Amino acid sequence: MPGRHFLQIPGPTNVPERILGAMHRPVPDHRGPELPALLSEIVAGLRKIFQTTRGEIVLFPTSGTGGLEASIVNTLNAGDLVLAFNIGQFSHAYTETARSFGMQVDEVELPWGQGVPADLVHDRLIRDTAHNYKAVLVVHNETSTGVTSDVRAVREAINAVHHPALLLVDTVSSLASIEFLFDEWSVDVAVAGTQKGLMLPPGMAVVCAGPRAIAASAQVNTPRFFFDWRPILAEMKRGYFPFTPATLMLYGLREAVRMLLEEGLPGVFGRHRNLAEGVRRAVRAWNLPILCRNPAEYSNSLTAVELPEGIDSDEVLRVAQDVLNLSLGGGLGRLKGRVIRIGHLGALNELEVLATVAGTEMALQMVGVRVDPGVGARACEQWFMQGHLAGRRVGSPR
Ligand code: PLP
Repeated sequence: MPGRHFLQIPGPTNVPERILGAMHRPVPDHRGPELPALLSEIVAGLRKIFQTTRGEIVLFPTSGTGGLEASIVNTLNAGDLVLAFNIGQFSHAYTETARSFGMQVDEVELPWGQGVPADLVHDRLIRDTAHNYKAVLVVHNETSTGVTSDVRAVREAINAVHHPALLLVDTVSSLASIEFLFDEWSVDVAVAGTQKGLMLPPGMAVVCAGPRAIAASAQVNTPRFFFDWRPILAEMKRGYFPFTPATLMLYGLREAVRMLLEEGLPGVFGRHRNLAEGVRRAVRAWNLPILCRNPAEYSNSLTAVELPEGIDSDEVLRVAQDVLNLSLGGGLGRLKGRVIRIGHLGALNELEVLATVAGTEMALQMVGVRVDPGVGARACEQWFMQGHLAGRRVGSPR
């Protein structure tokens, strides 16, 4: 199909030309002289993006799932009690990762569409005077539901009862899109992938490990080899890796870090907030419910939209793909067939969001959802214009 493919799933996201260009180069010697300077710029930049001075960066040639596995096997032992909340497909998968290594997970079941309730964290931990819980697992932005949990409030709940449990956070679909403060929230491990806010192709996990997590990795005896971060940390300090790294991805990652820091993190977060609000206004104009009911928990990287009874979201996806060359996300797990997920993260601007909204409303009409042509696009454009008339500048990451 002529024209560009609109990849508006909630990750992988569109890779800017600048990043593709940075990766379009000969493969370097991964034990050669270029690596230390390349790695040192990446690590310094990622520290700024995680907003940390005390966290250590660990890079794995894997996907986000691998990074999440690393966060578990380096900090916990089989039999350790872990507190987790089932608020969507990815939070449940994080739980299952811990279970598969023999940890005992107290997984609190909650309706999909809400975030981690900090008061429940408080209630569970205050009763645990013996400090049996060794970690609390939180998915910062639950990509299956479009809900952002308040990690700061979770940290405050842990601190309020002086509980020593580690705070392990999945930031796969929030890092470099939604504000995340590793140091201020005293996070112990945060895990991201390259294919979302970092604007790269899939293929690497980016882990940030704090001092307590690093100390734990010297004590735990969970079997690990590839995901043991100790040899990686040691080698990365010298500018290298104990395995063959994804070298061309590293060049792309350096460029991504440069782009994000040039735009500035407040600019990046503000742009995502603005684009997300444009999408939400469109959804409201379609008279369809946003799965996330609490506006304080709206995700700025994606919006999950509930469809009317009798409409299969997979059919919307198929029509959008086949007729419009637009990829949208569908319902995962128990939401299969029931929601569409519009990704609005990464390298993205207002015009692209307007096209995505227009394409989504065309696809909805094609499968029989009653939507007046143009109402969503109009609401979205009105929101963007309101910003321009008020003098709010909206940058573009290209
Ligand atoms: N956690 C979240 C919040 C995600 O959105 C994803 C992927 O979309 C994952 C974990 C799994 O990451 P990956 O597919 O890169 O293994």
